[in-house]
Amino acid sequence: MLKTIKQWLNAAADVVMPRICPVCGKALDSDEKWLCRKCLSALPRTRYEDVDFNTMEQHFAGKVPIERASAYFYYEKGSPYASILHDIKYHNLPGMGRWLMARAVRDMQGSHFFDGIDVVTAVPLHRSKLARRGYNQSEYLARGIAEALSIPYIEALKAIRPHSTQTRKGALERWQNIQDNYALNKNADQLAGKHILLVDDVITTGSTLIVCATALKAIPNVKVSVFTLSSARLE
Ligand SMILES: [Zn+2]
Repeated sequence: MLKTIKQWLNAAADVVMPRICPVCGKALDSDEKWLCRKCLSALPRTRYEDVDFNTMEQHFAGKVPIERASAYFYYEKGSPYASILHDIKYHNLPGMGRWLMARAVRDMQGSHFFDGIDVVTAVPLHRSKLARRGYNQSEYLARGIAEALSIPYIEALKAIRPHSTQTRKGALERWQNIQDNYALNKNADQLAGKHILLVDDVITTGSTLIVCATALKAIPNVKVSVFTLSSARLE
C-alpha cells in the first residue's frame, strides 16, 4: 500500500518514464532513489578510512602534508560502477553524487573520518569547462558532505587555466603544467587555523589533489584532509 500522495505520484512517474539504475540497468522502484538496493549494497567500498596510513594517504606522503585521505568506492574503467562517475560528470546528474556523499558520511560514521573537519571545499573547474558542462560535479559532491555534516561549503580554490588532457607530455612536464592550474580565492583567508576537507570525484594519479592541497596549505595553520567519491586501484 502506498502511503502518501507523493509516493503515489512518484510511482506513477516511474511507470510513465522509468528511472534506471545506472549500475545494472534495472528499472528503479519508487522507493529507490538513484541506485537499486542490490547495487547499493554491493558498492565496492574502499574502506581506506579503517586503515592507518592507507594506500591513498601514501600517495600524498612526501608531496604535501595531509591529515587523512579516503574514498567511498573503487572505480575501475569498464566496471558497471564506473557509470556512476560518468553520469555525475557528463549526464547532468550531479544530484546523484550529492546523495551518494551524504550516504558516505552516514556509512563512515563509525570510522570518525569526518571528525574535526570545519569546512568543505572542492577541486574547482575552469570557467570555460563550467560554461560547457553547466556545473562542477565536485562542488555538488562537496556540498553533499557539507550538508550531511552541517558545516559550511566554501569555494577556496579557483582553476586559473583549463586542464588539458596532456597525454603526449612526459610526467615531469605534465606535473609542472598542472602546478600552475590552481590558486587560492581571496576568501581563503578566513580559513586560517581550520581543518579543510578537499573533495573531488575520483583519484587516479592524485596529481590534481596534490596541487590543490598544496595551494590550501599556503593558508596559515590549516589542516587538510582529502575525500573522493571514488578511487582507482592505487599502487
Ligand atoms: Zn542496480
